[in-house]
Amino acid sequence: MFESSLLVPEPLMEVFVNPLLVRALEVYHLPLFDLIDQAHQVHRQWHNPADVQRCVLLSIKTGGCPEDCGYCSQSAHHEANVPRQLLLTLEEVRTATRHAKEHGASRLCMGAAWRCAPNGEPFERVLNMVREIKSFGLEACATLGMLDQDQANR
Ligand code: SF4
Repeated sequence: MFESSLLVPEPLMEVFVNPLLVRALEVYHLPLFDLIDQAHQVHRQWHNPADVQRCVLLSIKTGGCPEDCGYCSQSAHHEANVPRQLLLTLEEVRTATRHAKEHGASRLCMGAAWRCAPNGEPFERVLNMVREIKSFGLEACATLGMLDQDQANR
């Protein structure tokens, strides 16, 4: 359990009626190494400290993004030695997933160089990619740019 003194000035205490907020402030005011130590204890409580999750990151659509993020090699606004690649096929993702599993991965993360995820067939294909990855028993995650509410719900 956490042990720390509350560093909220007494006159402000009545303002902080939400115990979760008070607790968050306690954590916020912890000295850094105390915070690291407590985080480490929580991690050891729930995870095997000798284990790491093996993940594979797969670019499912590379380059040509219309956004102008200055740091990003995927932006169409910058010269970068990154060949453009259209959205992968389901079969290509299936092959990559099989390969990842054979090499011990338990998660496959997909990244697509989109500012906003497009609707229609491309988005349906990505959903099928997620299903395909899960059918191998792997966890799936994706970074697809901004999603609208309907996309997020799916
Ligand atoms: S929106 Fe994402 S992919 Fe596009 S340029 Fe910015 S960081 Fe890169």
